[in-house]
Amino acid sequence: MSRPGDDWTCCPRCGGPLGWVERGGIPRPACATCDFVFFLNPGVGAAVVVRDPSGRVLLVQRAPGHFGARRWCFPCGYVEWGEDVRAAAAREALEEAGVAVVIGEVVQVASNFHEPGKPTVGIWFAAELLDPDATPSAGDDASGVGWFDPATPPPLAFPTDAALLARLAQSPAAVSATSAPSAAASAGVRKRANRRSRAR
Ligand SMILES: [Zn+2]
Repeated sequence: MSRPGDDWTCCPRCGGPLGWVERGGIPRPACATCDFVFFLNPGVGAAVVVRDPSGRVLLVQRAPGHFGARRWCFPCGYVEWGEDVRAAAAREALEEAGVAVVIGEVVQVASNFHEPGKPTVGIWFAAELLDPDATPSAGDDASGVGWFDPATPPPLAFPTDAALLARLAQSPAAVSATSAPSAAASAGVRKRANRRSRAR
């Protein structure tokens, strides 16, 4: 399967001719004129898992023209360049489901290969409605919104959403009401991350 960059002939930075260079055992488009090397990486997606007091999950129906149109998914979308991943998750909840949320803990991280030409890494966050009485409404890339029992979801757009819903159906406590991570918890995450990078 061809990949983005395979058919490039000119450097996107200086316009010079592109060749190939191997980095990390993978050939990559490279410019001998300005040293530009094109690293192809997956996109990053953020999704929110909001549950009502009876354990139902908030899903949105994908609008026509999008992958999985008319099927359902957790509110989700791409993280923009320079955007915090949690801010992206909250933004998508507002844009697609019309609800302001408080972002909580990570409940799933997974690679998505449902579109082989556009692989992504997805991060699903538990989230709470800022206003518990808020009524979701479909917007942006969504044509519908609703609350569903995780055990009996509507037709789903993404296999990784299906995996998480199956897990929620088996152990409803897996994602309970959550609060935003405390400053101490965030500091703990940073410490662990530092230890990992030192170990490398
Ligand atoms: Zn160049």
